[in-house]
Amino acid sequence: MSKSDHSGAVLTIDLNGIVANWLLLKSMLADAECAAVIKADAYGLGAERVAPALARAGCETFFVAQVDEGVAVRRVAPAATIHVLGGPVPGSEETLIDHQLVPVLNSLGDIEAWGDLAHVRGAPLPADLHIDTGMARLGLPPDETAILIREPERLDGIEVATVMSHLACADEADHPLNRQQLADFLRARHKFSHLKASFANSSGIFLGPEYHFDLARPGVSLYGVGPRPGETNPMAQVVRLQGKILQVRDVDRPQTVGYGASHRVARRGRVATVGVGYADGYLRSLSNSGCGYMGDIRVPIVGRVSMDLITLDVSDVADDAARPGAPVDLIGPHNPVDSVAAEAGTIGHEILTGLGSRYHRVYLDGAD
Ligand SMILES: *Cc1c(COP(=O)(O)O)cnc(C)c1O
Repeated sequence: MSKSDHSGAVLTIDLNGIVANWLLLKSMLADAECAAVIKADAYGLGAERVAPALARAGCETFFVAQVDEGVAVRRVAPAATIHVLGGPVPGSEETLIDHQLVPVLNSLGDIEAWGDLAHVRGAPLPADLHIDTGMARLGLPPDETAILIREPERLDGIEVATVMSHLACADEADHPLNRQQLADFLRARHKFSHLKASFANSSGIFLGPEYHFDLARPGVSLYGVGPRPGETNPMAQVVRLQGKILQVRDVDRPQTVGYGASHRVARRGRVATVGVGYADGYLRSLSNSGCGYMGDIRVPIVGRVSMDLITLDVSDVADDAARPGAPVDLIGPHNPVDSVAAEAGTIGHEILTGLGSRYHRVYLDGAD
């Protein structure tokens, strides 16, 4: 028996599809470079597989959130430029330098510490400069940006690779904050016009060439999530999650299904139990709202999602098809990541990054 026979579910990740998505985004960029954001283990899909596949396709630049993620990517992408969005957290400096990771400096404090370190070492250190234009999360707030523009010598000893900012509402093309952030970024960037600039995430690329600058930073659309909710999704789907039926039973009124008796059986039918639950990242908010597919037939989740199990109404599926061992698409051609996210009341990012560690993972690569 292979591990896939033991496992509750099989997660298939199409590396060719991820590469195709990167090439599509890159083709929209004219002269700008297309990086890849592979933080949180490439949004749950496995950075150690995704980074080399993208590097082989020509991607030279990666962004991660944390230093340890950068170290892991360095092992599989020896020649890449790797930026760390979280910056040089105190204590991580040696690791950053040893692995040639480029930290994003998010405050005047970061700039001072990184500049001091360069001074002590007697050699310039690379870094990016993050100017906040509307997220109020990371990056120099407006008052610190104003100080840096007046006193650019604060950057002495730092080899600034990229000056960047991050859009708050890029997935809403008409949101006024997009234009406002663009104007603020252009104004701040003016002082650093000799440096490469980076602004667009996945959705930002679709806002048009003004938003592209020198380096785009797409993440989630590489993994199939649509850049504009509610509109046609141009990205290839790269994830398939197939749960397995453990047991099938006949049900009839007045039975209820699952914890809290939240599903009341309305008519005679059949319920299948599948070995995937919220411990696998199949969100509990999909209780009585999500669905699977068996072939083309929709099989709705009935009752609550439990830790290791879900229950689905398979009354519409032929008896000999809905049997123990049969696969059920929990993410697939009929229910892509975005649909599952909508049913769960969340975004595709959260569905992807929550994908569990118990799945048997299959990677499609090369000629597959
Ligand atoms: C996560 C992130 C991205 C990628 O955003 P997507 O919406 O996933 O394309 C780009 N830039 C920064 C600063 C980020 O934190």
